[in-house]
Parts: sequence; structure tokens; C-alpha cells
Amino acid sequence: MHGQVHGPEETLDPDDWATAEAISHRIVGDAVAYLRDVRDRAPWTDMPHSVRETFTEPLPSEPTDLAEVYQAVLDSLMPYPMGNIHPRFWSWYMGSSNLTGALGDFIAAVQGSNLGGGNHAAALMDQQVVGWCKQMLGFPASATGSLESGGSMANFIGLTVARNVKAGADIRELGVAALPRPMRYYASDQAHSCHRKAMEALGLGNQALRRIPSNDAMAIDIEALRRAIAEDRAAGLNPACIIGTAGTVNSGAIDDLEALANLAAEEGLWFHVDGCIGALVAIAPRNRNLVAGIERADSVALDPHKWLHAPFEVGCALVRDPQAQHKTFAVTPEYLEASPRGLAAAPWLHEYGLQTTKAFRALKVWMAIKEHGIEKFGRLIDQNIDQALYLSGLIDAEPGLERVAPTTINIVCFAIKIAGNDSEAAKRVNIEAMLRLQEEGIAVLSDTTVKGRHCLRVAITNHRTRRSDLDLLVRELVRLRSTLLVTESPTAPKS
Ligand SMILES: *Cc1c(COP(=O)(O)O)cnc(C)c1O
Repeated sequence: MHGQVHGPEETLDPDDWATAEAISHRIVGDAVAYLRDVRDRAPWTDMPHSVRETFTEPLPSEPTDLAEVYQAVLDSLMPYPMGNIHPRFWSWYMGSSNLTGALGDFIAAVQGSNLGGGNHAAALMDQQVVGWCKQMLGFPASATGSLESGGSMANFIGLTVARNVKAGADIRELGVAALPRPMRYYASDQAHSCHRKAMEALGLGNQALRRIPSNDAMAIDIEALRRAIAEDRAAGLNPACIIGTAGTVNSGAIDDLEALANLAAEEGLWFHVDGCIGALVAIAPRNRNLVAGIERADSVALDPHKWLHAPFEVGCALVRDPQAQHKTFAVTPEYLEASPRGLAAAPWLHEYGLQTTKAFRALKVWMAIKEHGIEKFGRLIDQNIDQALYLSGLIDAEPGLERVAPTTINIVCFAIKIAGNDSEAAKRVNIEAMLRLQEEGIAVLSDTTVKGRHCLRVAITNHRTRRSDLDLLVRELVRLRSTLLVTESPTAPKS
């Protein structure tokens, strides 16, 4: 019964383009105002039950006017963000986005190109942005690279290439069962959790990542690393890769990258740098010396959605050897054969990573860099580092607060002091203060444990933060400390 007509043919395009244009203008206008007024709102607000409920509504089968759909977004979604675009959001480690980048993501979606491959402008722009990342770090133009979903995937790319190059067997064909000797990777005990996940997913296992103690600066102990490599070699293992961290997530410590590069060269190991936090310090005029040596790495992971403030997601993997990344990932199935001309001519970006379809991540980065120039991004990084040092000074001057780790870049670890040495009570007070700062809409901090000591943590990856915000934070911490110490104290008067 082919050829039967079942009614009019349909499309997802608007029925009425003028109405679509009007609502689009409204959305853009609201978006600009949302960003303009971000400081007037709380960084984070918990959702009322009624709002929470809206997210359990079942699959809609009937249509709803776009204006009504957008109203639901305004009511349930926009007032309850994570808050990381707010000037007083300093949790974990994330960028604070930017309007131009958001417009870039919108335009990328409008064009709708797939960056998995093909001869089109978006693919060239992707490679241009990768090239800019090489330039920022002083990497050779002959290196390869790929834009990834973020730093975790960018690290995964580097660690995978390292495995295939250093395995001593054809891992792609035979798998890790063919390894002549078990491989060992090395990183400090401060390395990010994504490396453990990578080791597990790569089939090497968590134990193949040997954690080397960190020193007082929270950076890798080079001599301990040297001894570990010798010990493993003597035990018949295959020391394969050193992972240096440029900016640890706990405290912002930076491993001695020159020393690691030298050691890797002496020992014949792959040198990967996790630069998700600190690689971009290379563009900061007053601090770039902190990451000297990063340009000597065999592979680097960096994260434009952190200190370049690109909207999520965009990370970048760079690999120095011009062939190694392609050799690790390229597969050409019959349905993705290149043609000599036309759309299916090179480049085939899917041959440099795990994804087939890829988002057009470059445009949001490209537009913002073009608009501001890279020097401004460098100055903003210096500005955040200055602010972290300023906050450290405020904390050091405050008898009720104390710093718990050295401030190297833009991360400050500190704690509210309590009398005596009951670490459980101290942890309770600090967590309670952190939660009240969130719930009272003042600021968002996170907590961690550094060398066994629980602490609060401020990571200033934020182009909107001002020194006055840090003054406010310290005032509020002092206030909360006196309130909370009354409650904690065993002799507190019952109210
Ligand atoms: C954030 C971070 C990662 C992970 O990057 P994502 O973009 O969150 O996937 C890895 N390493 C370090 C040091 C980080 O700070």
C-alpha cells in the first residue's frame, strides 16, 4: 500500500515565522537582563516543593504554545540555577560563563552542524580554536588536538594515547591482556578523580595509578616519584606515564612541571599534564612562570569552560606527537569514507576521539576570544589570583579563621577556628556555616579535606567577583562563627 497519503506533511518549523521572531526577541531580551541583574539575586535558592513537582510531569503528547512553554521555563527553571554565574559563587571549580559565549552556543545550534567530520566552516573553526589552545600553551603547531566535553574527557584522551604508545603491544587489536608487563602511571595524591576513572575504563585498573605523596606545597614530591619509578622497574612493571597537575582541585597546587618533564625524559615516560585548572595560567602575564614547562608535555588537558568562562561544555586535549592521537582513535567504517571533494572531504574530527557526532563547541570560545582578545582573559586570570591572595590576607588577619593550605593561585582553603581540638565539632561548625551561607543567599563555597584536615574552600574562577565580595564573605563568616560557637559550646546557655 505504498504511496498512501496519511494527511498533510509536517515540520518542526514554526507555523508563523513572525510570532517565532517575536518570542525569540523576548527570550534574548530576558537573557540579557538575567545576566545584567545576576548580582541582585541570591547565588543559590532551594526550590519550593511546587516547583520540584513540575519536574515529575509526564511525557507531553499534545502541543503547547511556545509562549506557554517559555513561561514554564521562566517559572520553574530560571530562578533556581546552580548559581555559578553569580559573583559570589566559589564552589568546586567552574567558570562563570559569558553572554557572547551563550550567543555562540545559540548560533551553533541554529546552524546545527555536526563536528564529527566533513568539509565545512565549523570544522575549520574547531581546528582553529584547538590551534589557539596550542598557542596559548606554547605547544608546537604540529601537535594535534580535539575539543572534548570537558577536562575529564580531555584527560582520558591523553591517558589513552599514552597507554597505546607505551604499552609495548598492539593494545587496539589485542587489548590489555597482551601487555608484556603491567603498566604504571604516576600522579600526586592530589590528582583529580577523573584519572582514576580513566585508569579503570582503560582496563589498567585503579592500582596502576600510583599516588605519590605531595609535599608541604601540596605538589608532587619529585624524589618520591623518582624512587617509585625505580622500585616499579625493579619489580618488573612498566613505568609508562607521569601525570603532572597544573592546579590541583583541592588547593590549586602546581607540580614542578620542568622537573617532571626532565624526569619523564630521563626515564622514557610519557608526560601528561592535567591543566584543567592551571594550564591557562600560561596566558596570565604576571603568573605564567608558575606553569613553565607545560609546553614540554606529551599531552595536556585544558578546560576552556573553567578559566576562559565558556558555557559548558568544552575541554581540550592536545597531543604533541603529530600522529599518536590519530593512531589511537582513527577508525574508518565504510559509511564514513572520505571523498576527494565535496562535504565528505577532510577533516574527519571523529578520528581524534571517542565521539562520532560532536557538538560545535568552538564557536562560543571563538566569539568570546575574538571579542575581548586573549590578553583580557589573561588579565582576568591574574585578577582572580590577586583576589585569592587578598582573601588569604583577610583570613590571616582574622583571629577566628585560619588558612589550611598555601594559596598558590585562585583557591583558598581555610577553616573557622573553634576552641579546643575537637575535629568533629570543628567540621560541624564549618559545614553549618557553609550551608547557611548558601541558604541565606550570601555566597556558595564548598568544603574538602586537605592533609586530613576538613576545611572550607573558595575557588575564584569568576570574572564577576570583586574584592568587596570577599570582604562581605569574611564579615559573614565572622558573624556565623559567633552564632555557631554559642550553639556548639557545651556551656552554652539554653535559650
Ligand atoms: C575540573 C577538573 C577536571 C575535570 O574536568 P571537567 O571539565 O569537570 O570534566 C580534571 N582535573 C582537574 C584538576 C580539574 O580541576
